[in-house]
Amino acid sequence: MKVKCILCDKVEKIAENSLLAKQLRKKRVMTYMCDTCRERIDNKTEKRLETGNYREYREKKKDPYL
Ligand SMILES: [Zn+2]
Repeated sequence: MKVKCILCDKVEKIAENSLLAKQLRKKRVMTYMCDTCRERIDNKTEKRLETGNYREYREKKKDPYL
């Protein structure tokens, strides 16, 4: 089964009987992302979480001050 990455349009072949292939057939709206793009997204998400934690930390520091 051929799948196309939604981000870089790279076409990859996945095993017909793999779990991912079954999921993609079942839910046609489900999008496929190649490993490279998934990794990139994961890194971005981690960085965003780090930023979020940092902000949270700064806000907490304000509490005793108020
Ligand atoms: Zn990709």
